[in-house]
Amino acid sequence: MKRNDVEQRYRLEHGVIRSPGKFEGEPLWVPVFWERALEDGSDEDLEDDGDAEFQPVSVFVIENADLLEFPELEGIREVRVWEDDQGFVHSDSYRRTLADYVARGFDATTREYDHGFRVRCSACSSMIINGVATHELGCPNNRRAP
Ligand SMILES: [Zn+2]
Repeated sequence: MKRNDVEQRYRLEHGVIRSPGKFEGEPLWVPVFWERALEDGSDEDLEDDGDAEFQPVSVFVIENADLLEFPELEGIREVRVWEDDQGFVHSDSYRRTLADYVARGFDATTREYDHGFRVRCSACSSMIINGVATHELGCPNNRRAP
């Protein structure tokens, strides 16, 4: 499925799907990534720890080809899609990937099933200050962001 297919198949309003059904209320790129998750698999699948009842969350790191097809994803580095138990598909998008955090020395960071990342450094008690991941003073993993 491509952007064109979404535009023909669904009624869109400001880039949001308004047709009733499993993608209603989601951005127009969601059906494309959802199909990719089902057919080709994602970059990573997040499972809820110990609860098989919950569906896996499919993670995609955004590449240049994705941005060419979906310019609205400019600035987004990672998207996630998953299906709830009613069959509706949901999404999240992030301005950082796991690799971005690791590159800044937060080498013990993990993706969270519920939401976002658990940002951690193996060499200090890093903290989130005003929304920014921060190493302790003198941490050897502290490097400037590229
Ligand atoms: Zn640190």
